[in-house]
Amino acid sequence: MGRVVIGVDLGGTNLRTAILSPEGELLDRLKEPTHAVDGWMKVVARLTENIKRLKEAAEQKGHKVDAVGVGAPGVILGEKGIVVKSPNFPDWNNVPLKEQLEKVLNVPVVIENDANAAALGEQWRGAGKGISSMILLTLGTGVGGGIILDNKIWHGADGMAGEIGHMTLVPDGRHCSCGNDGCLEMYASARGIVQSYREASGRPANEAAGQVTSEQVYEAARAGDKTAIKVMESMGRMLGIGIASLINIFNPERIVIGGGVKDGWPLFIDATRREIMKRAFEVPARRTEIMPSQLGDDSGMIGAAAVALELARAH
Ligand SMILES: [Zn+2]
Repeated sequence: MGRVVIGVDLGGTNLRTAILSPEGELLDRLKEPTHAVDGWMKVVARLTENIKRLKEAAEQKGHKVDAVGVGAPGVILGEKGIVVKSPNFPDWNNVPLKEQLEKVLNVPVVIENDANAAALGEQWRGAGKGISSMILLTLGTGVGGGIILDNKIWHGADGMAGEIGHMTLVPDGRHCSCGNDGCLEMYASARGIVQSYREASGRPANEAAGQVTSEQVYEAARAGDKTAIKVMESMGRMLGIGIASLINIFNPERIVIGGGVKDGWPLFIDATRREIMKRAFEVPARRTEIMPSQLGDDSGMIGAAAVALELARAH
């Protein structure tokens, strides 16, 4: 019997929900497809149903759920708990998620941006344990970021801070979906790696399927394919140029790298470190540890629980 919190990662593909103790012990969990195409009302209903199921199971064991935290992609108005816009959910416009959930669940709810939640998750239970200033970069299909300074997420004036993937690295570079050209995301994401490989090789890696995946590029590089090796090194360089700026601006203790591209770690990290040492100020560059994330796909869910715990303690 004890007090617990619920953390939810509302992903474009999967909906992950878990019960955690205040010490961060994972007590129960659920995972199911989000089915974002069903529209926001059905997704919110599914989200509510998942939380209710875990909450009721916890209550039967004598636990009390103090708060619920939800990590959601997109622009979040933190205080009101409104999802303003979300790249994974095109029909979400100013969805009052906190209000909707609180009405049904009868517990305080807090909404946080998913990348910020992932950073808090790694800080609480993963690669950032005991670290008060750290930056998380998630290298997936795109590049996400969360900046924790002195134990607080840096939200910025509009709640839009931490968009590390959209710092300009190449003034007239590849066109990004954000409207800008030459964003870090266009070079250091899975999509960027695939594009670089296509450009460098002039042909798809898997010609039968006509499609190249980032995993195939890592595999080719491990097998000694010179083009793939070069592609991964230049990706590592781009990442290092971006991180060198982050180090000069924020002087973090640690930078944690997550997302699927982490699977290619040995193929890019040396180039990344070289670029950091070349470009950043020596003292912060030497101090900053660059580490892979530890929680994998659970970081957002666990971080959302951390935000819920903070809310519960403030009540
Ligand atoms: Zn961009």
